[in-house]
Amino acid sequence: MYKIYSKVIEMKRAGYHVHNSYRFLRESPDFLKHKKIHWKCDSPDLYFSISPSGKFLPCVDIDTDINMLDPRFLDLFFSEDFRNNMRERVKNCFGCMYACYPEITFFCRDSRVFFERLLQGFKISRFKRREKTYEDLLKLTEKIKEKYPATSFLKLC
Ligand code: SF4
Repeated sequence: MYKIYSKVIEMKRAGYHVHNSYRFLRESPDFLKHKKIHWKCDSPDLYFSISPSGKFLPCVDIDTDINMLDPRFLDLFFSEDFRNNMRERVKNCFGCMYACYPEITFFCRDSRVFFERLLQGFKISRFKRREKTYEDLLKLTEKIKEKYPATSFLKLC
């Protein structure tokens, strides 16, 4: 696991399009192997989830009955009681490394990740995205499968 993540970090340094931050890549193996996290969840202040039926969820793992389609939802959301209640629920969570949540916390609270993202955004903005058809993507998939058969990842371990 550590070797695989090191390899991905190395690939990112070499210019491969790896979207996750270096910090996320460095800390993920600790979570996957030991359930250890090095960040504090910022739900509901920096992010939250919305269920397909329109329920407000502090995150995908925490269910509620709060309907965001209710016209009074915004007032509720900005009330201190609601925020404290949600923060309390989040506090009891043992943590995660779902990319979308910690990456936002890293981006907002860790200046190194912030500058890394700025640089990444600048680099990406210089590329013109080529349009791909469904057939193009199938061909590309086949090419990747040929070049990197599933077993080649296992060899890294
Ligand atoms: S699972 Fe992750 S995002 Fe959800 S409450 Fe826990 S730490 Fe926060």
